Amino acid sequence: MCPGNALRSPFLPRLLVGCVIRDPVRAVRSERPYAPRMSATLTLTVLGTASPHPRPDRPCSGYLVRGPGAEVWVDAGPGSFAELQRHTDPARLSAVWISHTHADHSADLLSAFYALAYGGLTPPAPLPVYAPADCAQRLAGFLGRAGTGFLSGVLDFRPLSDGHTARHGGLALTARAVVHDVEAYGLRAEAGGRVLAYSGDSGPCAALTALAERADLFLCEADIDAHREGERVHLTPEDAGEAARAAAVRHLLVTHVGPTLTPAAATARAAAVFGGPTATARVGATTVV
Ligand SMILES: [Zn+2]
Repeated sequence: MCPGNALRSPFLPRLLVGCVIRDPVRAVRSERPYAPRMSATLTLTVLGTASPHPRPDRPCSGYLVRGPGAEVWVDAGPGSFAELQRHTDPARLSAVWISHTHADHSADLLSAFYALAYGGLTPPAPLPVYAPADCAQRLAGFLGRAGTGFLSGVLDFRPLSDGHTARHGGLALTARAVVHDVEAYGLRAEAGGRVLAYSGDSGPCAALTALAERADLFLCEADIDAHREGERVHLTPEDAGEAARAAAVRHLLVTHVGPTLTPAAATARAAAVFGGPTATARVGATTVV
């Protein structure tokens, strides 16, 4: 988009230099049928589960986590930003939390930037984005910019590290470094004594079991049918089931199933190892944790 219809915003980045700005776009937020903004309890809404590319009606990894006084978009896979808008106004998000910078978990940050900077969805203050330290630079690079300063009007990047905890309202988000082929984190989200654990992308590792320890709901990838020789950067369904069993979680929700598996088959294989309640993550579904 050459943002010729861009909203005139106090956050308008210098990216617009050279483009003709016509009449502003006015977002019609009051007509959107959003659910109530916050949840008194911890909830998970699935926005996308596909790996490694979006499919019709199935975006890549994206989730909306709500707790008392907070709603956080977790992972920004392609297609998930559109799905997010079925459930909330992006301008009122508390934060974004990105597990790692692979495109199927982060590419819709670009969509979000366009929406927040040019689309009339500008938040009242820059939106905190918890992500690996190189995330802002990657986004700026896609936009052809050497520096990242122009992003700061709408997106406030904050680097993740192992053990990093962010608090928004009654929701605590703790990152655990997991094994992948780039810097990657799993998430332990806690509110009101309930725990949601999310693997992000992870190979089998002790940190994955630790972050899921006795979680009420464990949202776990089962990306691959089998490991390639010498490579442990994703989970098979059996790995997901074993992590759930070892962590003694209450419920397992299988997600991020890759093209060599079907979600139904991956869920059945994971359940056989876990031995507890297991379901497939489905786009649009909301679960009270
Ligand atoms: Zn990945």
